[in-house]
Amino acid sequence: LKNADTAMYHAKQKGNHYLFFNDSMNEQAVKRLQIENLMRFGLKEDHFVVYYQPKMDIKSGLLVGMEALVRFITPKKGIISPGVFIPIAEETGQIIDIGEVVLDKACKDVKRWIDQDLFDGRVAVNLSAKQFSLPDLTTRIDIILQKNHLPSYFLELEITEGTVMDDPQEAINVMRSLSARGIHLAIDDFGTGYSSLAYLKQFPLNTLKVDKAFVDDMHNERGRNMVDSIVTIAQNLELHVVAEGVEKADQLAILEELNCQTVQGYYYSKPLSAEEFTEFLKQQKSV
Ligand code: C2E
Ligand code: CA
Ligand code: CA
Ligand code: CA
Repeated sequence: LKNADTAMYHAKQKGNHYLFFNDSMNEQAVKRLQIENLMRFGLKEDHFVVYYQPKMDIKSGLLVGMEALVRFITPKKGIISPGVFIPIAEETGQIIDIGEVVLDKACKDVKRWIDQDLFDGRVAVNLSAKQFSLPDLTTRIDIILQKNHLPSYFLELEITEGTVMDDPQEAINVMRSLSARGIHLAIDDFGTGYSSLAYLKQFPLNTLKVDKAFVDDMHNERGRNMVDSIVTIAQNLELHVVAEGVEKADQLAILEELNCQTVQGYYYSKPLSAEEFTEFLKQQKSV
């Protein structure tokens, strides 16, 4: 090891406690702070953009919906991946403002596609744990829907297992109030967390999303059995199944065999800008 620990660590004695720092920890902290500042600036300057990835019905090959995915486009550092900035935004709480920007833009774009007669399904928007625990979440969503003249029927929210399992009793209340408005609810990255089946049954859900990790694993029998099990759970709970991260035709064939109805992934399309997605919708219309 070149950067041997002993050379890197500066220990500061403070009473009986030793605090350890090293340069890589320091570097990380600086990078986080940089991204935090970039996000604050980006929120003011409108640097958050929404891309859309089609959700396709396997049997018909037709578009049934789309997922809104945020992109952070900075003038100086280029595009910063959600994998990098979302966890930081979660920690700083900036995810609340970013999430509202995404919801607002998604509602605006979908309203336009509906008015242009290009689409009449639902747009799925990711909802972070911080957003989900806001006491006035439903009011905030109502305001954004009203502002964009979009009926709640057109909205689906993707929530991870961790978010709803943190406080399942409270989650049921929040989900009920969203569901009562006609908003659809999906459990995102299903199987990667720790859902209790007992609770899953009580949640007013519409969809389970199979995480890409499971789709990637379908080349072996155990992996296929996992997806099979998830689809069976969904069927028993009368939920819709969407598999994400589908890249290859053989994955599509296995998923169809396993009775998964809907897929999302590079096989059909990468996430597209609103402009590109408009073209995608027009192509769909003409087939
Ligand atoms: P996710 O919700 O599981 O979204 C699916 C991710 O898989 C997206 O990555 C998408 O671009 C990627 N993907 C889809 N199909 C394929 C494929 O065939 N191959 C590969 N390699 N990747 C595929 P993305 O856009 O980078 O987003 C990463 C994560 O960041 C999302 O995972 C989600 O957890 C979070 N995220 C993205 N947008 C938002 C948002 O607006 N709000 C919140 N709270 N989180 C968001
Ligand atoms: Ca998602
Ligand atoms: Ca997902
Ligand atoms: Ca995922």
